[in-house]
Amino acid sequence: MEIYLAHAQGFCAGVARAIEIVDKVLKKYGIPLFVFHEIVHNTFVVEGFKSQGVQFVDDINDVPDGARIIFSAHGVEPSVVARAKEKKLHFIDATCPLVETVHRQALKLSAEGTNVVLIGHREHQEIIGTKGYVDPKLLHIVENLEDIDNLPIDTDKGVGYVTQTTLSPDDTSLLVGRLKERFPKLIVQRSNDICYATQNRQDAVKELCKVCDIVIICGSSNSSNSNRLKETAQKLDVESFLIDSVDDLDMQKLSKKERIGISSGASVPSSIVFKIVSVIQNYFSVKKVHSESTPEAKIVFVFPEI
Ligand code: SF4
Repeated sequence: MEIYLAHAQGFCAGVARAIEIVDKVLKKYGIPLFVFHEIVHNTFVVEGFKSQGVQFVDDINDVPDGARIIFSAHGVEPSVVARAKEKKLHFIDATCPLVETVHRQALKLSAEGTNVVLIGHREHQEIIGTKGYVDPKLLHIVENLEDIDNLPIDTDKGVGYVTQTTLSPDDTSLLVGRLKERFPKLIVQRSNDICYATQNRQDAVKELCKVCDIVIICGSSNSSNSNRLKETAQKLDVESFLIDSVDDLDMQKLSKKERIGISSGASVPSSIVFKIVSVIQNYFSVKKVHSESTPEAKIVFVFPEI
């Protein structure tokens, strides 16, 4: 057996920044400290902060007036910021700067009176945050081609769109193509808003699929980009499954495989992947672990004042 590690995987710059913000705030001010939604979609990271006393809330009204709170990397709707101000909360925004770019694009379209189509998953925190920047009368969320066909917008009306940052580029270009067909005046600000980390991780999984019999994706089930990695492999007819930690590893699935690919979502600590590799090495006879350095090592986002 040989193991191939994806050349781009693990923490992206937005996740690393959000986690460092919580670490620094915790160190400087201690508890009580609240985080609005999971800081990033990873069980290990969230449980680690919970064990240090950090409280995660899904409703800003559950936070005591005047308390300290951090907004998650996925971004929040402006109404949450407004409520935080009313409650005199000390808030620090850990929204990924790439998500903030999408917020600005959505806000601009909406302010111009343009219908705004949000391409993404309705229930995902990022889309919930972004939709708050759009006038509800101009807002349309689409997840698939059928949703686009059913949009209640006249074809001669101006329509713009933005996308969730963690989608599949291939699926998204199909949806944008259908939007272009339906709305000849479609406003294209950028072909899509899928971030560099999502793109790089999906490209890396495609590379793994050229040589591997099976691809393990490490990531939590509510992590959008991790799920897209699993689907990327499956669409190439390579068996793939998602695991949150080494405890979910099913050795039976690996027993007859010769080349195991391993990748991880943008919110997964590298220690989890190392542990998975080590457990597989202890269980099977592994000839070689192939690994290349990441091309993202130098990407760092500006840090907010704490
Ligand atoms: S996955 Fe992309 S958009 Fe999301 S936090 Fe990471 S860099 Fe930012």
